[in-house]
Amino acid sequence: MAEQRRARPEEAAAWRDLTATARRTVTDGLVVGTSGNVSVRVGEVVLVTPTGVPYDRLGPDDITGVDLDGHQVLGTLKPTSELPMHLTVYRATDAGAVVHTHSVHATAVSTLVPELPPVHYMTGALGGPVRVAPYATYGTEQLAEHIRTALEGRTACLIQNHGTLAYAPTLERAFNDSAQLEWMARLWLLASSVPGRTPSLLTPDQVREAGDKLSRYGQRATP
Ligand SMILES: [Zn+2]
Repeated sequence: MAEQRRARPEEAAAWRDLTATARRTVTDGLVVGTSGNVSVRVGEVVLVTPTGVPYDRLGPDDITGVDLDGHQVLGTLKPTSELPMHLTVYRATDAGAVVHTHSVHATAVSTLVPELPPVHYMTGALGGPVRVAPYATYGTEQLAEHIRTALEGRTACLIQNHGTLAYAPTLERAFNDSAQLEWMARLWLLASSVPGRTPSLLTPDQVREAGDKLSRYGQRATP
């Protein structure tokens, strides 16, 4: 039986943001059904979407939280089966939120190349060309380790034959970065599908310069 305690006000507020973000992953087409997952860190607690519950049915009483070792400290619903990748990111980085999707264009790209070619300067916002973490069975520590390696110096990665992961200080930014990554994957697929032509790519200096400028932009909006 999971340990029970009442959610603190800041945890309840973070849970509201989390469920709203989880619903947006569905309405914005990054996820079908309950196939992605979202988490947010509040101190030493990680709130995370539970497994198998449609996001539009998640209410305040469904709050699900674990500590950084994965022990459940809030709620009785079972956390997502993909919990290891979330916890690994929180242990390895200063992430405040993690968004994992199965968005279709990004997942398609993950089956074709080891790295998303830098076709757009928003690559710089994610720390550089987005790597593809090699395949391993979902929910395993091995997959979490592949993702940790692919994220070195980056805030997002693709996951081979599976999906995407992005982390950021806030849920909103992790969500936006996931949407940008899906858009860039779609852009590359579109540009590289023109017969007889090859898309031009940005140089490492161009990506770095755009990344520096975007990080000075504060809200990281696309100019
Ligand atoms: Zn997944």
